[in-house]
Amino acid sequence: MNPESNPARTESDLIPVRALNQATYCQRLYYLEYVESVMPINEFVEEGLFTHRRVDDPDLAHRSRKEGDITKTRGAALSSEYLGITAKLDLIEEEQGVVRPVETKRSAAPRDPAGEPTFWDNDAVQLCAQALLIEENLALPVSSGVIYYAGSRTRVDVPMTVALREQTLATIATVKELARRETPPEPLPPELRNRCFGCSLAPICLPEETLYLSTPKSVEQAPVTQDPTDSSISLLRVMAAKDERAVLYVQSPGARVGCRGAHLVVTIEGREVNRAPIATIRQIVVFGNAQVSTQALHALTQAEVPVVYLSGHGRFVASVMPAPPKNVGLRSAQYRVFSDRERSLGLARAVVAAKIANQRTLMMRSLRSQGVTRAVDEADPADRASIRASDEPAAREMSALAARVPGAPDPAVLLGLEGQAAALYFGNFSRMLKARSPGRSFDFTTRNRRPPRDPVNALLSFAYAMLAKDCFSAVCTVGFDPYQGFYHTGRHGRPSLALDLMEEFRPVIADSVVLSLINNGMLAEGDFLTWRDACQLTDDGRATFFRAYEGRKATEVAHPVFGYTMTYGRMLEIQARMLSGYVRGDLPAYTGFTVR
Ligand code: SF4
Repeated sequence: MNPESNPARTESDLIPVRALNQATYCQRLYYLEYVESVMPINEFVEEGLFTHRRVDDPDLAHRSRKEGDITKTRGAALSSEYLGITAKLDLIEEEQGVVRPVETKRSAAPRDPAGEPTFWDNDAVQLCAQALLIEENLALPVSSGVIYYAGSRTRVDVPMTVALREQTLATIATVKELARRETPPEPLPPELRNRCFGCSLAPICLPEETLYLSTPKSVEQAPVTQDPTDSSISLLRVMAAKDERAVLYVQSPGARVGCRGAHLVVTIEGREVNRAPIATIRQIVVFGNAQVSTQALHALTQAEVPVVYLSGHGRFVASVMPAPPKNVGLRSAQYRVFSDRERSLGLARAVVAAKIANQRTLMMRSLRSQGVTRAVDEADPADRASIRASDEPAAREMSALAARVPGAPDPAVLLGLEGQAAALYFGNFSRMLKARSPGRSFDFTTRNRRPPRDPVNALLSFAYAMLAKDCFSAVCTVGFDPYQGFYHTGRHGRPSLALDLMEEFRPVIADSVVLSLINNGMLAEGDFLTWRDACQLTDDGRATFFRAYEGRKATEVAHPVFGYTMTYGRMLEIQARMLSGYVRGDLPAYTGFTVR
């Protein structure tokens, strides 16, 4: 489009020339960052910002200074309506009538086959766009520019050849095309995948996973695959398998979280009881009337650490999240897709199928480890050795229910199948609890809540509340509206999407923690209080629970589709990101998380 034909065009429509660098490096990177406005900071971005601190110094902007024979101008802002680009140039050097742009990069200069320093294509395109801006704005020819690679302290000359100029104009045209797309371009092909390591958007882009799920093979599996059979693949993981930072639980009545320098300090009645560097914390969970100071909230928000407020009983009350991601496009797509009856039903089928599969797996594992499978009890003694846990009547019935999930014609039928599976599962829950000596048993007869009336139900309710707050964080981190779900819909104020995501993880995180706390004797009756039929954990009991819960989230597990291992905590985010890929149209389907 000729910019002159569009009088409504404004400065903000112009393409920043650094975007040309990204579009040359990877078109998907450009799209995610500039079209979807996703911008996480990783160590490479931070280092880049540090490298640019002199360039971006407002006191130096637009000032020309003579240094020897060279006149240097920093931070010059130049634009071209005709080309549709804009830039704030790091540095323009002028020497004896010859003008050249100088661009600073944090990395080391690459080497050519002869071992001489050279430049990256994407950097050259950015520099060339600057040269075009100088030529148009200052009416001076630019025959070359310089890239200063701070990592190796190398200045590399870049000639403004015809080929480079053509490549730059073609990149501008490509960027304009990309801005009109509804969905991101595909991730880089395998031969360029080395570029993904160190890419700040890798955890959002999920290049290997997206390509894998975009293949025809994955379309056959999705969206309701619960039992992927191809375990041979193992994708290259470009994001960390775990988050080493800790969750700080603040539950003592009267506790107060303050901030001293780069540390959080927890006090009770003015006495310091805990202190931790903010950099080592990934989430704060505040119960009841414990408090967080305004100063600490500011510091935590700046460090992008969410603070979750729960009632004294563990009910979700509110959360203070860092500024939500700016990708309005994802939220618009979320409202559109989740309002589509067929598509939201497809998603609901995927999570319910995964939930039933995981309930069945946990039940079979637990019964097997207890040696109490009913199938064995009922079999002829001669056949007992060949009986498998999957022969358990409840396991067989759950399989049959799961097989009906893909054909569920509406949410009501789906809810019915989920309820029948839950009845079978909880009907066997007491058998999954290790038999203990008389007087020390944790009986379970049926699931009850609001309020839970016995220790096992109190533990289950508390575990689900903790999982819900983590799913809430995961969907917010990705940029979803947590209150708009595809399955749990309708009730005002309910974080429906967090509850949707939670379904497939209930058995493998929450129920599993409850079983291990009881079966390993980590909790005793003295860790519970009962008042007016409502049972809840004591403060000490909760402290034990938090350790077990965080331990479970730190457990690594293989992803059923992608093959690589990750902690359960990270798996919540991976699933939220796969859901966002489906909602944005990047992936053909959403596949629920299942364990083997
Ligand atoms: S992770 Fe790779 S494919 Fe994805 S945006 Fe970054 S460079 Fe592009």
